[in-house]
Amino acid sequence: MPKTSTKFDQITPSEFFYRNRDLAGFSNPAKALYTATRELVENSLDACESSGILPKINVRLIPTSDDESKTDPRNYLLRVIDNGPGIDSKQAPYAFGRVFYGSKYSLRQARGMFGMGGTMAVLYGQITTSKPVSLITSTNGKDFHKFSILIDIQNNSPIVVDKDVIQHDGSSGTSIEIKLEGDALRSSSKLHDYFRQTALVTPYAEISFLDPHGRFWFYSQSTNQMPKPPGETKPHPHGFDFEAMRRLIGSSDDQTLQKLLMNNFHRVGPTTALNFSKFVGIDSNSNPKDLSNSEIVNVVDYLHKFDSFLPPDSNCLSPLGSDILNAGMMNELNPEFSTITIRPPSAYSGFPFIIEVGLAYGGKVSRNGVSLFRFANRIPLLYDEGSDVAWQVVKEIIDRRNYKIPDNAPLAIITHMCSTKIPYKSVGKEFIGERPEVERELKNGVREVMRQLRLYLSRKGSAEAVKRRQNIYLKYLPLIAEFSKELSGAKKLPKYESLMKQYSNSDNTNEEADINA
Ligand code: ADP
Ligand code: MG
Repeated sequence: MPKTSTKFDQITPSEFFYRNRDLAGFSNPAKALYTATRELVENSLDACESSGILPKINVRLIPTSDDESKTDPRNYLLRVIDNGPGIDSKQAPYAFGRVFYGSKYSLRQARGMFGMGGTMAVLYGQITTSKPVSLITSTNGKDFHKFSILIDIQNNSPIVVDKDVIQHDGSSGTSIEIKLEGDALRSSSKLHDYFRQTALVTPYAEISFLDPHGRFWFYSQSTNQMPKPPGETKPHPHGFDFEAMRRLIGSSDDQTLQKLLMNNFHRVGPTTALNFSKFVGIDSNSNPKDLSNSEIVNVVDYLHKFDSFLPPDSNCLSPLGSDILNAGMMNELNPEFSTITIRPPSAYSGFPFIIEVGLAYGGKVSRNGVSLFRFANRIPLLYDEGSDVAWQVVKEIIDRRNYKIPDNAPLAIITHMCSTKIPYKSVGKEFIGERPEVERELKNGVREVMRQLRLYLSRKGSAEAVKRRQNIYLKYLPLIAEFSKELSGAKKLPKYESLMKQYSNSDNTNEEADINA
């Protein structure tokens, strides 16, 4: 038998996603159109919010001129313009021309997390239409840097095809234009769900969308209250691993184990660092660079076991809060009854998180069973609902008999998880994994809003029963008066007007006031 030699090769991140684009949510032209739009909008929202700017985002999706007469799938032009802080002109080509290049790798709550969403949209556009991406960005509102960029996929680096600077009086922001193959017919409903649900949790943003059918959708800004920008935090010892520790020791100048722990970990002070050193049995004054491999393994192992570390502080997180969530629910669902519960901060594997749950009943809420709107760091999650921990929790809890909810009740539940790291099950950011701590907080939140709904429905039920009784009295009182006059042989009807007045005045206004209290 002839001997064949095995050929080895290596590929870059761009090449990897070029070959496996399904992993990033670009599996077919319909999903790709949706994912590309979403990634660009999310970049704009992240950028505006991190600079405290009330977002104004304009999205346009139209068939390209040479493709207008064709049917789907065909080529589209996707343009997203924002009023954000803009991108530094030296970074801009890399931000969109290199996979895994971004500004969100620190521990901070953000929509983007892999440095690849917007870049993947550019890459997908390039491989389906061979056209470069057009980017205009300004950080000062005067110099507008224009770029035409292609990605050198084999080398994972940008090729600047064209660039220019235009002076112009305006405001900072970014405009990005991608030509890509898409299927608008099959992605239309997901795109509209996406914008509507985004409006639900970002009522402080103004978003307009010109869809491929020429329809214009406008989501107005209904509050100018913005959640505080998320802060950056250090890693918590419970979430640290061996590789991270090896790198930290390599790069830090800290001379002692105690200093290393104090300066690089979240909520570790001198006493905790000292107690930890005793716990692991290593002198707190030893130089971390002198630790042997097995000692480093020990340190990391004990970091996870030591239970005197303070839990992660959630101050760096930026939950929506009741006012903003309520403004979004009123605007988009206009419910008859709504309630919100914000769970106390919690943590999984050293990452802090907060769960917020809203419930809307009646009004514009659809009657087709329970609608669940899932959000993670303010991103609507529209695919793979069944695999998401939130859906599993809601399915388990919502037993209509337990909460006395009528069948076909118009009920919407909104779950929002914010964290420095969302435990997504895929890079496509579509569903959250079952972490026991996350599951527990979701359960408590959903139970609480359901209890509130049950209370509302039972008060409403008794108010209606009272009203029904009063209506019966009002109907029969004159007859009873007439009968008693005949029976007693009196000449006049007994005085019952004041009773009538009492029943008709004491209609259910007081009860209503109670219900809404
Ligand atoms: P990610 O959002 O996961 O970091 P992206 O590929 O989507 O990755 O974006 C890469 C980087 O480009 C971001 O980290 C951000 O710094 C920058 N960026 C993208 N879009 C914008 C925008 N509209 N305004 C400002 N910066 C942006
Ligand atoms: Mg992104």
